[in-house]
Amino acid sequence: MGAKREWILIAGILFFMIGLLGAGLPLIYSVLIAVAIYIGIKAYVGRKNLKLRQAMPEGICIHCGSKIVDAKCPNCDK
Ligand SMILES: [Zn+2]
Repeated sequence: MGAKREWILIAGILFFMIGLLGAGLPLIYSVLIAVAIYIGIKAYVGRKNLKLRQAMPEGICIHCGSKIVDAKCPNCDK
């Protein structure tokens, strides 16, 4: 995850936390929920990236996104 997306995620969770505070939730619960969501998203993204790497050990084509077979793209390297 790039640094910019990281900050967008943090900003989104901060706004969500402020929303919870606005809804009358105590600060400590709002912070705990925000941290739990952040950790949950990080864990989800990490698992997804790991699965993607395991499913595509040779990577994907930067042009069309196809799975690379024998270091070639079946669509672009004909
Ligand atoms: Zn391709």
